[in-house]
Amino acid sequence: TLGRLSERAWERFDDYDALFFEGRWYRSRELAERTRRVAGGLTDLGVRPGDRVVVMMANCPEVGITYQALWRAGAVVTPVVFLVSPEELRHILTDSGARVVVTTAEVLPTVQKAAHDLDVQIVLVGEATAEGTVPYEELARADELPLIDRDEQDLAALMYTGGTTGRAKGVMLTHAGLYAASLASWEASTAQHVNRVIVPLPLSHAYGMIVTLIGLQSQVPRSTVLLRWFDAKEWLRLASAHRAQLAPLVPAMIGMLLAEPALEATPLPDLRYITCGSAPLPRESLEEFERRVPGVQIMEGYGMTETSAVCAVNRPGARKAGSVGRPLPGYEITIRDEDGNALPPGRDGEICVRAGCLMKGYWRAAEATAGALIDGELRTGDIGHLDSDGFLFIVDRKKDLIIRGGFNVFPRDVEDALMEHPAVAKAGVVGRPDPRLGEEVVAFVSLVPGATATPQELIAWTRDRIGKIKYPREVHVIDAIPMTSVFKTDRKRLRQMLAEAPP
Ligand code: ATP
Ligand code: MG
Repeated sequence: TLGRLSERAWERFDDYDALFFEGRWYRSRELAERTRRVAGGLTDLGVRPGDRVVVMMANCPEVGITYQALWRAGAVVTPVVFLVSPEELRHILTDSGARVVVTTAEVLPTVQKAAHDLDVQIVLVGEATAEGTVPYEELARADELPLIDRDEQDLAALMYTGGTTGRAKGVMLTHAGLYAASLASWEASTAQHVNRVIVPLPLSHAYGMIVTLIGLQSQVPRSTVLLRWFDAKEWLRLASAHRAQLAPLVPAMIGMLLAEPALEATPLPDLRYITCGSAPLPRESLEEFERRVPGVQIMEGYGMTETSAVCAVNRPGARKAGSVGRPLPGYEITIRDEDGNALPPGRDGEICVRAGCLMKGYWRAAEATAGALIDGELRTGDIGHLDSDGFLFIVDRKKDLIIRGGFNVFPRDVEDALMEHPAVAKAGVVGRPDPRLGEEVVAFVSLVPGATATPQELIAWTRDRIGKIKYPREVHVIDAIPMTSVFKTDRKRLRQMLAEAPP
């Protein structure tokens, strides 16, 4: 179980600088002791094995401490990104049945609004106090809790998905699954070769959580610099000052670093690897980054909440640009057609995954589970292909496919073509319902600061690149492409914008 995993990590090394956050180092012993006490405090508060507890706050040491304390107490971590609206949180609270929320003063108004008539106790991290809430420091003064054992098939986390394509679904992840995923990632990845890591990812997301668990698998004392939230300048400053060797990022963060004039001027002498996943990374971004920061290799990977994060990743010495790498050891990826038949290399179809780290199912959603888990294999809803060397290439999400006059158009192809235009910073493409063609291709773009391009010019540009069928007939230049709270292009929001703006 994950409780044992932390225990083992604490016993493995003497006291060392484990975590740097907002100006100070936290020693490993101090974190371990605080975790054992918080586990005791949560138990005193009434948290029992199997209970779901919502952890909703921006990154801080208490996020990791609370996760590990909950595992120690046998409870189920339910992370929620702190930016969700009161309505979204309310859905998660009622759906999960959580009766404890651990949060900060900054997020408290959202929590109070969401939970006003629910039987929910609020634990407040930080110095601020508020009526009707329990101070986290009170939990941290409790007696240390001995580890509560659970079955490895019991739930360790109920993680709500990114909500990119619809309402967030609760994904049931087990101790065994998260353990297996973190071990496979650790063994296959660059993490083995480093001990200084900088983490700006929200720990509430599957990617951030797995990075934390991979840290617990480490066979060397590992120091993590944690950011409350990604900021390109701050990331550069800290990565440089603490000589980070490994940096997990997402494509939007790489984009923000590329837009940062201080990128070349900041010495990053020890930075060797960047891992990147959760959304497509434009090839040009990878190439530009590696050109501007020599000595760094970007390893793109692919995964999702339903597989406890990573399924495939590029590795040093075995990497292909444009690919998300080969499956992790013990993971089997099959590409299937609409009827479920396996397809040969080179053919696009639905990416299906078989592995020990798959979710148990969607929480209280038997129908959705039956659609996603078929004979123990996960239908990811993503389209892609394997090449003859076993490298996986992602095309797009099945749900976002635009069918224009009977032809399939994947928005990503159109977005990539637009982003090759020097004036385009970011593009988001969706379908507009069309009485004649079924759907019409519509693009939204944001421009590089100071650059100009007209919609007509961009329409002509893409027509020259991707041809008559796929090019967007309508291009809207907007200030910024809307992003979800975990930095993905929000095509759902783009569709709403279209509905509000007739052609
Ligand atoms: P929801 O399921 O609620 O719509 P989501 O799928 O965005 O949200 P996550 O589990 O966070 O929630 O994201 C997993 C998805 O992210 C994958 O299914 C895939 O579509 C996309 N993804 C992850 N890595 C990559 C990558 N390297 N390239 C392209 N897409 C990726
Ligand atoms: Mg998904």
